[in-house]
Amino acid sequence: KVRTRVAPSPTGDPHVGTAYIAMFNIAFAHANGGEFILRIEDTDQNRYTEGSEQMIFDALKWLDLNWAEGPDVGGECGPYRQSERFHIYGDYARQLVEKGEAYYCFCTQERLENLRERQKAMGKAPGYDGHCRSLTKEEIEAKLAAGEPYVIRLKMPYEGETVIKDRLRGDIVFENNKIDDQVLLKADGYPTYHLANVVDDHLMHITHVIRAEEWIASTPKHIQLYKAFGWEAPEFIHMPLLRNSDRTKISKRKNPVSLNWYKEEGYLKEGLVNFLGLMGYSFGENKEIFSLEEFKDNFNIDNVSLGGPVFDLVKLGWVNNQHMRKKDLGELTRLTIPFFIREGYEVSENPSEKEFGKLCQIVEVLREGAQTLSEIAREAAVYFNDEYELPVVTEEMNKKEKQGIERLYTVIKDETGRQSIDLFLEKIKNSQEDISIDEAKDLLKETLDEIGAGPGKVYMPLRAVLTGLPKGADLYNLVAIIGRERTIKRIETMLE
Ligand code: ATP
Ligand code: GLU
Repeated sequence: KVRTRVAPSPTGDPHVGTAYIAMFNIAFAHANGGEFILRIEDTDQNRYTEGSEQMIFDALKWLDLNWAEGPDVGGECGPYRQSERFHIYGDYARQLVEKGEAYYCFCTQERLENLRERQKAMGKAPGYDGHCRSLTKEEIEAKLAAGEPYVIRLKMPYEGETVIKDRLRGDIVFENNKIDDQVLLKADGYPTYHLANVVDDHLMHITHVIRAEEWIASTPKHIQLYKAFGWEAPEFIHMPLLRNSDRTKISKRKNPVSLNWYKEEGYLKEGLVNFLGLMGYSFGENKEIFSLEEFKDNFNIDNVSLGGPVFDLVKLGWVNNQHMRKKDLGELTRLTIPFFIREGYEVSENPSEKEFGKLCQIVEVLREGAQTLSEIAREAAVYFNDEYELPVVTEEMNKKEKQGIERLYTVIKDETGRQSIDLFLEKIKNSQEDISIDEAKDLLKETLDEIGAGPGKVYMPLRAVLTGLPKGADLYNLVAIIGRERTIKRIETMLE
């Protein structure tokens, strides 16, 4: 049975690469009737950060990237947290020593540093020189008895080749003499990534290791480890790395890499997952918008291309906008409420039906042009803030902006402008509190017709008194959403 996994290390904010790799592992397992598991690789105490594991769970769950077995849900091959499996790794390392596949290495830090210096001076690649491979049984026993610190290293063959048969990349060939005698067990008794990763993939019956390209250099070591144990190796598939627009591996400096950032910015889970599904993958039929379910149901690993997908926030914004438009309005509104609150608007967490209806109206208007929930919230300021002033011209503005504002003052002071405002005020005073968009439209159209001037001369001053802005908000929606009382109050305050 196919079993895949993702094996993140809890070293900080959950990485967008983790979600990307998880998603392809999930889809592959799904397409093959298999299972996907989550393992936490927390053997590196120096890089461990508190709370990071929980953030990985939360972020993957947010994206609906669910696992059948894992540290939180358990499973037959548990525990799924490497720190709870420490006792296992030492035994396996010693087992390899007994088989003659690995050896104790007592080299001191000092000797290793000297070695590195010498190799550097000779222009040679750094690597262990095999010094302790030739220790005799007696020498080893004496050192162990004397309590000398040691590591356990894998005995890499000096000859021959190790070949990764990567389904996407074909054969990747490594000369064995260029591969270091990898440390398996550290002096403090902790396993290295390589040992723990291979032992766990074996014990957890992983059949396919689908991971990022950056692990290719580790794979021959892993293949040799499987061989040394006498285990069948899983199939290795290396996904292309997500890249900045300059083709370097995505990095914090050039792109946000934390899944938390995407959530806080208000990307929908559907949008982010869809976007990740486009990274190096073609769904076929030029289809760019799809759900996670569709992705899983149509998945074919052979459609992964190795070009090096560029992680483009503009594209993500477009994809996310498509999902915001598609989403059930009520659901989208509920998701936007925390963003409204974060902007400081007076919105309750559990709004009444009437208030919720208004919020839906706002979201319906703004979702068309917004890329994220936080953008909807920012753009919604005109609906919430009743206190504003007309803008003033500042030094930093460009010519066009300055002209826009000057024109604003002209149209307000202008006779037609003033008449338009007065007439509309009279009309709205005579209407009922709840105004539908159609009714607002009628009131505004009537004003326009009765004044008999162009929309610029009528609507611009109205928009100015109602929002304090020269352009932007659609007046029909605005009036309907803020209702009669607030419309009157806004106009009267501005006219004072
Ligand atoms: P470091 O900066 O220490 O190398 P990192 O940027 O690789 O860290 P990690 O936290 O180690 O970040 O990565 C988390 C997971 O995301 C790993 O499984 C890694 O393989 C994967 N990953 C990291 N960067 C990318 C990328 N550019 N594309 C795809 N996957 C990535
Ligand atoms: N713990 C590694 C990581 O951080 C696992 C890599 C692998 O998939 O083998 O991604």
